[in-house]
Amino acid sequence: MHRLLNPTAKNTPDDQVLKDLLFVNASQVVTCAGPARSRKGREMREAGILKNAAIAVSDGRIAMIGAAPDLMNAYSSAEVVDCRGGVLTPGLVDSHTHAVFGKPRFEEQELRAEGLDYMEIATRGGGIHASVRDFRERSEDELYDLAVPRIRELASYGTTTLEIKSGYGLSVEDELKALRVIGRLAARQPMRIIATWMGAHEIPHDYRTSHERRSAYIDLLVEQMLPQVVAQGIARFADVFCEPGVFTIDEARRILEAAREAGLGQKIHADELKPAGGAELAASLNAASADHLAAISEKGIAALAKSDTVATLLPGTMLFLGKSKQAPARALIDAGAAVALASDFNPGTSPTVNFPLMLTLGVSQLRMSLAEVLTAATVNGAAALGFAGETGQIAPGFAADLALFAIGDVRELPYWYGARLCVGSWKAGAPCHPYENVGKLNPRSPEVVPTG
Ligand SMILES: [Zn+2]
Repeated sequence: MHRLLNPTAKNTPDDQVLKDLLFVNASQVVTCAGPARSRKGREMREAGILKNAAIAVSDGRIAMIGAAPDLMNAYSSAEVVDCRGGVLTPGLVDSHTHAVFGKPRFEEQELRAEGLDYMEIATRGGGIHASVRDFRERSEDELYDLAVPRIRELASYGTTTLEIKSGYGLSVEDELKALRVIGRLAARQPMRIIATWMGAHEIPHDYRTSHERRSAYIDLLVEQMLPQVVAQGIARFADVFCEPGVFTIDEARRILEAAREAGLGQKIHADELKPAGGAELAASLNAASADHLAAISEKGIAALAKSDTVATLLPGTMLFLGKSKQAPARALIDAGAAVALASDFNPGTSPTVNFPLMLTLGVSQLRMSLAEVLTAATVNGAAALGFAGETGQIAPGFAADLALFAIGDVRELPYWYGARLCVGSWKAGAPCHPYENVGKLNPRSPEVVPTG
């Protein structure tokens, strides 16, 4: 297997001693329990919904699941968390974001509404190059300070594991700066944060002038940036934007093979606009995930279904861009692929911190079932990050990464779309989005009788 580098070794911000916890009075517990790997095809139909289950957490891990009185006996000194009729799920795993950036690009939304396409917006100085210019001017401290409230907002919707990509630096110095910011967030913020190096997010302007300059950038990525990223141990994955006009299949293969050789896992932005063969490349490399896939071909679907590569779909991006064509989630699942959902949180094409909204879009736009969106947002997201044995399930031995929602039935999670229903979350038993363990929840459906 790959030698995976993990900058997120510490479990809690200040290594405090973790209290044993006992979660009681949840109306439902969604476990997503099963083998420590992705759920493929039909396996996604089972989310494991329990009623009247309590959960004991010891040393930051799920210790026992069972009836509250039994667990009360076994864990008599544990701190009781009264879920007051809410729904507990595994902490949500957002496996694709670009959450470290400078200024947002809200001015582009109206230009798109006027009919300008990506190239026209880029010609006016917008698009990803605008984010790159802005990013390069900012200090590490500034970027960190801008990211912190965004991380807290992401957490407030139930996300406890977050992948963040670099890719607005596009120079050795600025990509290392981005990854250092992500490392600081991982060490100091109460969320599980995984860093991906994406120096291959775009070809910088000054390398677009000739074919030679273009190859010089690929050389820079492989020969200079990658070795420094690996030497500093600041990324777990490498990602490439493989799309006509950005990186070709051959360039993506060269970069990802070099990354694999150097010990990084591989991810790819593939087949978003045109079926260029990115999904097939990901499957042939046994990459951790192939992401976007709105334009994936039949061959690409078949290749992913046969592989262990997770198909990560980003329905918020297509929604925000006003595209009618969403990724073929049904065809992927029916063919036997493992599908994950992610927010793609970024300043240009998906400025949302609301991960449960992706579950809504999963059901209403991608025609996925409730169980499929739940497994896509937890266990399959974890598999896309190489964490399938650690998070994404409520099962003995797994990290106590949990999210509590103020609903009485998990079907309400995609139903009340756009609402912030998360009232608390935990990463390895430590507060991620702090829960006020007092008073009453305000469940939205009348059948729910709060017990507190
Ligand atoms: Zn992306």
